[in-house]
Amino acid sequence: MAEVAPARLCKKCRGAMSYAELPGLGRVWQCGSCVLALETEDGKVHIWHKPKAPRQRQTYAEEKKKSRKACPECHKPMWEVVMPDFGSRWQCEDCRLTVFATGGVQKWKKQVD
Ligand SMILES: [Zn+2]
Ligand SMILES: [Zn+2]
Repeated sequence: MAEVAPARLCKKCRGAMSYAELPGLGRVWQCGSCVLALETEDGKVHIWHKPKAPRQRQTYAEEKKKSRKACPECHKPMWEVVMPDFGSRWQCEDCRLTVFATGGVQKWKKQVD
């Protein structure tokens, strides 16, 4: 007799779950309400890996500190500027240049003659 897959209720919120066939996982149920909960046929509940609560008040503050990296031109220690998403770069304010982690050097402004 043909059996319709029984509806599953989310263990977290008791909401109805829908299922899908996923390669490697087989049939999995997913809660439409929490979206994060995923249940496989063996009854295991998996939680999607998701970034934690959005950091809405994230300021794009750069952290600036003296580094031991020497300026390629004047050989004085440069400032290390750390940006949350871009990593470090180094600056020499005397020579007005930026050194990137890739090793590239960029002058801040071309000198106007
Ligand atoms: Zn749920
Ligand atoms: Zn310099």
